[in-house]
Amino acid sequence: DQDHEKETLLETDRTHMWHHMSPYNPNPMIVTESQGSWITDIDGNRYFDGMSGLWCVNIGYGRQELADAAYEQMKALAYFPLTQSHVPAIHLSKKISEWLAGEYRVFFSNSGSEANEVAFKMARQYHAQRGEPGRYKFISRYRAYHGNTMGALAATGQAVRKQSYEPLAPGFKHVPPPYCYRCPYGKTYGSCNMECANAIDEMINWEGAETVAAVIMEPTITGGGVIVPPPEYLPKVREICDKHGVLLILDEVICGAGRSGRPFGHQNFGVQPDIVTMAKGITSGYLPLSATAARAEIADVFLEPGPNQHFRHLNTFGGNPAACALALRNLELIESEGLIERAEQLGHDLRSKLATLENHPNVGDIRSFGFICGIELVEDRTSKAPSAPDRVLKVISECKKRGLLIGRNGDTIPGFNNILTLAPPFSTTEEDLEFLVNVLRDVFEQL
Ligand code: PLP
Repeated sequence: DQDHEKETLLETDRTHMWHHMSPYNPNPMIVTESQGSWITDIDGNRYFDGMSGLWCVNIGYGRQELADAAYEQMKALAYFPLTQSHVPAIHLSKKISEWLAGEYRVFFSNSGSEANEVAFKMARQYHAQRGEPGRYKFISRYRAYHGNTMGALAATGQAVRKQSYEPLAPGFKHVPPPYCYRCPYGKTYGSCNMECANAIDEMINWEGAETVAAVIMEPTITGGGVIVPPPEYLPKVREICDKHGVLLILDEVICGAGRSGRPFGHQNFGVQPDIVTMAKGITSGYLPLSATAARAEIADVFLEPGPNQHFRHLNTFGGNPAACALALRNLELIESEGLIERAEQLGHDLRSKLATLENHPNVGDIRSFGFICGIELVEDRTSKAPSAPDRVLKVISECKKRGLLIGRNGDTIPGFNNILTLAPPFSTTEEDLEFLVNVLRDVFEQL
């Protein structure tokens, strides 16, 4: 009977569903239950979720307190637009500002992509308000992912994801990432003069600073292959932006909400961004919500008299009361349970346990940032030739057979989808970590 029910569901799925990233997925996993860092499919198979869904279920699955927060708020006030105000949004904006440890004003939307679109519009209008309407360009990095909408996808630096949809929004330029394992300048860290950061300075000069609105980047490139910058990279980028009057937007959609071992990823590098975007982990994925936080001095410019001083941006659902109440509870629990420190500790533990894989002939590099880890697969450690998709997919499917879900970097460059990714929930136990690493070791032994 259960088999029949599953078959019926799959048939309905095949007929009516259009899955993300795929036109046709004839045999999707149908997930029905979850607890802690584990999910259960319709057949009763349990899997450790090594990717927190899509890097978002930070607190872990099955938290009654979050369901209650949303439920209670829906009963009191299910909806009201943020042209006015409501209590959960007020409290949440304060909490986010506290986590940012600075004076910020918070604009709510629904997704990470939307939060980045808001940042782009804020940046352009900020310059226009201050008499520099010519500053319209954005600089981002190759390999970065910033979202699926026309602007956020234009900022994305992954050819394969963009190809079918171009031309996207004009004005987006890309520089090489701080990818020391495959330095785009053929240099070695320590004697490289940070060419990757200088590239931003150069690009601003070539384009003309008076045409550049902002630089956008993640503190660490996550989906693009866990590319962790050297410690002085971000401070140098901040300096370059300041020199040219260009805003620095940090996309904290993945690195924020405690994932990096600090409230926000950039706090590992001692820089203060002008605009911060966040989504995913702020609700731990339980409901959709995103935010764009701008430094108060930037927000203030929009209050000055002028022909067009308002930020003319509206969305119906952004800052939905239940989503805000849930996010607030989520951030409070992450604080009160010490989960940011826990994420940092788990990241260290995972990284040191993975050291046993370091000498495997197919492991080129292991990189980590907070509780995020990337394992770069190569065919040969000397030539660094990236492993072919077949081998990477085989690792992923062998892990799945053993009850472990892991990810890999998104469509970056054809032939370079060779980085396995891990970003488990903070609910992960020592025992879970042991399980994760044992499965990986077992799978690698058979490669
Ligand atoms: N920015 C980064 C760094 C992301 O990883 C993502 C999504 O994976 C986004 C933005 C877009 O977020 P969303 O999928 O919620 O639109």
